[in-house]
Amino acid sequence: INFRKAYYVQSAPTLRECPPETGAEVAFAGRSNAGKSSAINTLTGNGKLARTSKTPGRTQMINYFFLNDDQRLVDLPGYGFAKVPLATKQKWDKHLSEYLQERQTLRGMVLLMDIRHPMQEFDTMVLNWAVEVEMPVHILLTKADKFKRGKANGTLLQVKKHLQEAQVEDLVSVQTFSSLKKEGVKELERVLNQWLAL
Ligand code: GDP
Repeated sequence: INFRKAYYVQSAPTLRECPPETGAEVAFAGRSNAGKSSAINTLTGNGKLARTSKTPGRTQMINYFFLNDDQRLVDLPGYGFAKVPLATKQKWDKHLSEYLQERQTLRGMVLLMDIRHPMQEFDTMVLNWAVEVEMPVHILLTKADKFKRGKANGTLLQVKKHLQEAQVEDLVSVQTFSSLKKEGVKELERVLNQWLAL
């Protein structure tokens, strides 16, 4: 798949308004500021595709980036922005878990976490929802450039160990990633190519 061909098609405020369920798609999720927009921009080589440094939590929309007619990247709303009212948060919890449960075309979810504080409450919650419905998850430990390599690899091992202990390593994989240094792109592409295969 040529990820550089990604183009924006639509934003859906709710699940009901999403594109028809044909082909295959992969969703990107993560707490606000985890580096999701940057990662999508890095993957697609398009600095403008997903907006970076927007007001965190403002884009409460599901954004669709088509790679072609049948393969899509789905940018789910960033989660955990403190100023969002509880009711809005709860609504998005519901939306996200519904998306994982019900979206027939969803093949996997990329879950982004800042390498400096991985596996926060939200991350664990989303991971559990995915595991419950046997949805594959690939974790990106983002901003890996913030750590020296040894420390980054140490965190990677910790997360791997956690996944083993939770007995979900068959369903959940993890890698380090840096948009700044463009590191980890090939590894991510390999996973997406497998998931999106038609
Ligand atoms: P989003 O809210 O998850 O979409 O996060 P953004 O992609 O907007 O990134 C949030 C902040 O982290 C911005 O200030 C980015 O410049 C910064 N950031 C994103 N990726 C990286 C990275 O790989 N390395 C570093 N050092 N900073 C990053």
